[in-house]
Formats: sequence, C-alpha cells, structure tokens
Amino acid sequence: MCDPSGATESSTSTSTRAEAEYVRRFAERLGVPGLIDVHTHFMPERVLNKVWAFFDGVDWAITYRHEEERRVALLREFGVRAFTSMLYPHKAGMARWLNGWSADFARRTPDCLHTATFFPEPGVETYVREAVESGARVFKSHIQVGAYDPNDVLIDGVWGLLAEAGVPIVIHCGSGPHPGKHTGPEPMAKLLARHPRLRLVIAHMGMPEYAEFFTLAEQYEEVRLDTTMAFTDFSERLMPFPPGEAGRLADLGDRVLLGSDFPNIPYPYTHQLDSLERLGLGDDWLRGVVYDNGARLFGLE
Ligand SMILES: [Zn+2]
Repeated sequence: MCDPSGATESSTSTSTRAEAEYVRRFAERLGVPGLIDVHTHFMPERVLNKVWAFFDGVDWAITYRHEEERRVALLREFGVRAFTSMLYPHKAGMARWLNGWSADFARRTPDCLHTATFFPEPGVETYVREAVESGARVFKSHIQVGAYDPNDVLIDGVWGLLAEAGVPIVIHCGSGPHPGKHTGPEPMAKLLARHPRLRLVIAHMGMPEYAEFFTLAEQYEEVRLDTTMAFTDFSERLMPFPPGEAGRLADLGDRVLLGSDFPNIPYPYTHQLDSLERLGLGDDWLRGVVYDNGARLFGLE
C-alpha cells in the first residue's frame, strides 16, 4: 500500500506507468477511444479519510491511496475519458454540502461527470432540483450506508424528478458486502413499479443478488448495472457470480457499464478489466461495457 504522504510515489511510478500502458493498450485493442468509468470515488478530504480509516480497520489495502491531484492524473494516464465523483451521506444534513463540493470538483475537473447525492430529509427535493438545474449528470444513492428506505415518502418526489430529467442514479442496493435493512431487490422492485422510467444503475451488478437484479433490468429497459468489483478474484471469493447467469449477462450487454471503485480497491485497476475479459463474452460485449454504453448514456463522443 502506498504511503498517503506520497513518500513511496517514486518507487511505484514504474509499475504505475506499466499499468497505465496496459490499460491504454486494452482500449486500443478493442478500438475504443478510452474508458468510461461510472463508479469512481472523489469526495471532500475529511470524508475520504474517514472512508480510508474504515478500510484500515477491516484490513483492506487501498491500492490508490494518493493525493486527489495524483488520483485524477492516474485516471487520465489510464485513458479514462469520463468518470464520476461518487459521494453519499450516511445521515441527514450532509448531502447539500457534499453536492456543493462535487459541483466544484466537476468545475475544476472537466472529465468528471458532475455527480450529486441526496438523503431522505426535509428540503431534499429542492436541493436535488438545484443540482439537476446546475448540471448534475449522475446521482449516487447508497442504500446500505444511508440505511434508508428507497420508498420513503420524503424522496418520492426526488425519484419522480430524476426519472423525468432522465438523470442516471448509481445505486448501491444489493446486499453485498453486508445486507442492510433496506438492501436487496424487493425495495427496488417496489420503487420501479412506481417509477418505471428511472435510470437506475445497479452498483456492483447487484451482488450477491445478481440474478434478481438481472430480472429487474430485463423488466425495465432504463435499468442498467455497473461492473464495480464484480467478477474480480476478490469478489468471486466472497460473492461469486453464478456461472448459469452468463447468458443473461451477455444479453444485457448494452446495459452494463464499467465501474471500478477507484481508488478504494484492494487490487490494481487492470484486474477489473481482466476480470471482464475473462468472462469470455467477446469484444463487442466488452466495447459496450467499457465505453459505448456509457458514451450513449451520457451523450459523450
Ligand atoms: Zn463504490
């Protein structure tokens, strides 16, 4: 693991250069202009430090524990053309402040898709509308960390507004790594029954409930899934992808988006890409996942 002070930066730069080259070659070979990664984390420093402290407590080595500037530079070296700043509140009174930070981050980081978030609390509809009007391109909702019911009446207007605006919401709603009170496919099925045009991007392929979330994607054409951590050795040990579902995964190819969880991953970035390739679903599928589907969704070149 890298020292956050950057003291080990020079000793890692050779391997980083090799890694960047590997990622770029991956995209080149597929014939795509680069990657679009819908699930990367950038947040205010003191929040990120808390996240990192949590991972330290569970002995999870964060591969890219660098200063913000270095993390952005790395994604660019990898040839990531667009990424996000996934951030999320764990309690009331935080979301508006986080949204202020991420709007500023997007302003100073043009390749970051302006990201916003929300929490069931009074005034939520107002600040979500403000975020959309100020150009938010994607939202993040974390059902496990936020521990809220997605069907909470306080956010019903928010879902309506986001469905209407067609703004995607990356939502951590699967029961991995640990179930929460409101995680799992049932609350999402209930939500989609009321808002069938919601552009939900199910984070982590909905692991471990892969199959159930595939069913929702098959049922609702605006539902997508992100690959974040799925199919990696790490996740396969804990929450393996059922091999019998590979056919449905292939068929859903135009609704699967590359996500990585950079920088908070316990393995190199390339491992996510290798894990997708070794599924053996072919180059067309891969092109869609790592670039084309995201480009279509966000109207990028
Ligand atoms: Zn994440």
